[in-house]
Amino acid sequence: MDISIVVPLYNEAESLPELTAWIERVMEEQQLSYEIIFVNDGSTDNSWQVIRQLQEKSDKIHAIRFRRNYGKSPALYCGFDRAQGDVVITMDADLQDSPDEIPELYRMIKEDGFDLVSGWKKVRYDNAVTKNIPSKIYNSTARFITGLKLHDMNCGLKAYRNVVVKNIEVYGEMHRYIPFLAKNAGFTNIGEKVVVHRKRKYGNTKFGLERFIHGYLDLFSLWYLNKFSKQPMHFFGLWGSIMFFIGLLAVVVVGILKWVALANGTPAPLVTNLPYFYIALTMMIIGTQLFMSGFISELVTRTAPERNNYKISEEF
Ligand code: UDP
Ligand code: MG
Repeated sequence: MDISIVVPLYNEAESLPELTAWIERVMEEQQLSYEIIFVNDGSTDNSWQVIRQLQEKSDKIHAIRFRRNYGKSPALYCGFDRAQGDVVITMDADLQDSPDEIPELYRMIKEDGFDLVSGWKKVRYDNAVTKNIPSKIYNSTARFITGLKLHDMNCGLKAYRNVVVKNIEVYGEMHRYIPFLAKNAGFTNIGEKVVVHRKRKYGNTKFGLERFIHGYLDLFSLWYLNKFSKQPMHFFGLWGSIMFFIGLLAVVVVGILKWVALANGTPAPLVTNLPYFYIALTMMIIGTQLFMSGFISELVTRTAPERNNYKISEEF
């Protein structure tokens, strides 16, 4: 099989027939063998019935139905697990990504030898204030931290060599950073293609403002996990030692000052009389503790045997 198209969806019933027809048209024109894998992420509308009807007309359509809404990453994870095509394409269900891009993405993987090609929505049709500008800031931070020169890390439209999707674990909300996951798994030939972005035709966006916060925190985790998860001591040990040393120095200074003042019989100033001293102290301790517990829980969730156990109610 040439291509597997993985489509995660959450309440996108109106878009599905149009999307399916469009994909079928493009695939038939190009004479490519393919499958479409819909992953119904706990939709509460009639998306599942629509998929069933589509499936009656075409044996190329497969689907997974989650018992509840787990998120886009789990949906991609399960779709990737099922994908059989040489090239795996992911696209959103909301018709914002155009199936017309598929042949060129396929060619870039097959002929140009890319492991992964990420779409770049150079011209976007989303709200400027809530989407476009934040996305620019977010992407430049992501570029800095991941070292990947991509303009649009979180584009839903991407193409992968099959072996790539079988070797990455898209958990939590890590779908935003799949190119980075791929890079860390050793797939470094990562390309980019400008893709057409369209207005959302039906329904609303499924990601609210929390995506900024989650996105940034996940970026920290990834950076940390990639750099230090195998040697946490390189991070905690180094900074722990530096801080301990500064603390020791401060104690020595305070001690010497006190000693000199006592020897001269002059009254010594008390550091503990400053409110800032207490604020700095508490904040630093709490901050470090929070960060550490964050990283540690991240490590725990990553190794938990249940981490990819999603409840599937139907599948075909
Ligand atoms: N999606 C999903 N599970 C979720 C949220 C979203 O499967 O919990 C799907 C959604 O149906 C769509 C894709 O992920 O196919 C992208 O979502 P959306 O279009 O809402 O994101 P946006 O384009 O606004 O960034
Ligand atoms: Mg969308």
